Amino acid sequence: MEAKINEFMDSLKAKTPGEAEFHQAVQEVVETVWETYDSNPKYKAAKILEKMCEPERTIMFRVPWINDNGEVEINRGYRVEFNSAIGPYKGGLRFHPSVTLSALKFLGFEQTFKNSLTTLPMGGGKGGSDFNAKGRSDNEIMRFCQSFMTELCKHIGPNTDVPAGDIGVGGREIGYLFGQYKRIRNEFTGVLTGKGLAFGGSLVRPEATGFGSVYFAQHMLAENNQDLKGKTVALSGFGNVTWGAALKLEELGAKVVTISGPDGYIYDKDGITGEKVEYLLDLRATNNDVVAPYAEKFGAQFFAGKKPWEQKVDIAFPCAIQNELNLDDAKQLVENGCKFVVETSNMGCTAEAAFYLVDAIAFAPGKAANAGGVAVSGLEMSQNSMRFNWSAEEVDEKLGRIMKDIHDTCVLHGRENGHINYIKGANIGGFVKVAEAMLAQGCV
Ligand code: GLU
Repeated sequence: MEAKINEFMDSLKAKTPGEAEFHQAVQEVVETVWETYDSNPKYKAAKILEKMCEPERTIMFRVPWINDNGEVEINRGYRVEFNSAIGPYKGGLRFHPSVTLSALKFLGFEQTFKNSLTTLPMGGGKGGSDFNAKGRSDNEIMRFCQSFMTELCKHIGPNTDVPAGDIGVGGREIGYLFGQYKRIRNEFTGVLTGKGLAFGGSLVRPEATGFGSVYFAQHMLAENNQDLKGKTVALSGFGNVTWGAALKLEELGAKVVTISGPDGYIYDKDGITGEKVEYLLDLRATNNDVVAPYAEKFGAQFFAGKKPWEQKVDIAFPCAIQNELNLDDAKQLVENGCKFVVETSNMGCTAEAAFYLVDAIAFAPGKAANAGGVAVSGLEMSQNSMRFNWSAEEVDEKLGRIMKDIHDTCVLHGRENGHINYIKGANIGGFVKVAEAMLAQGCV
């Protein structure tokens, strides 16, 4: 089996040189779905796995805009429409200097499996730009978003491709993007999710990724006859996802002791709660990515340039960016007694860290644990189609049910010798549904 997987990966790498993140994401999936794929003659004859590794369409475009000094700046925009077998392309837009075609291909590939796991009819896509919002004014961000959408609006639509937010794209950016789409297309549709509540957004969407990952953690803990009460938790990041997770963890009786930014991390022995989390969001809104001021304000410790994985905690939730937790970090967490790692960022762990953790303790991969965000995006699409809104309780209840279904799927496909391999469970569960839909739709 190993030889066949290597052959598959070598051929992919030859076709897509220099796309390290994409190769990492594919490798993780291929290793765990190979048996399912290779034992099904229909999948093999239709080259389903090869097809899944090639986006249906990739759009790259120039994003020219004018900064506050009147100078022209040029960024690159992308939309990778990866797979529409089970629904319109769906996935976020990331505005971050680390955005490359490889990064978006890895994210779009992962999104296809994640969206499949949500049980909702959504295909996979991802887009974004290498735009860096740090230090930019609100007007600059608006002009950038407008220029980005001026091109993107030709390729998306409520039944074609429905983008949302991701790193660097929150409610404010979605508002500017939506305004420009409407201005150019003269249509009021649910073409984006994560919209403001006044114009078609869904309650609970901003918190959904964080809430969902905590619900997933609850099920993982329950499998081990444990619950969240009294557990200490390390979170990374300090954006919407971290905020949502922190709120829900506090509500369920766990104690969050760390959050992080590009400048380092905060350790607060008293717990990062309520108004402290709000303060972090305000800090974020200044477009300056720093967490250090938190330490001074609340008398906590700040560790410059470090990651929170060196702390002794029961549960870790990487919530920031890909590959933020490596093998050394993983070993340190386990040595310090951590029993659960809930990957809330997309591919937050390196491949070595993820495969180590899945054997050593209970580890949930991002495509299962963080699916709550896109799941509530799917619910936003449903509400937009109905021209109707559900209450926060109704959305939250549906989110809870979806996260339970995802967990059950992981258990169904991932149980091995009394242990649950959540990576395998999520990949096989996501793969089979997309593969069956592709087969049924014929070879085109
Ligand atoms: N960016 C989120 C994700 O990685 C949400 C995507 C969406 O809502 O479409 O799943």
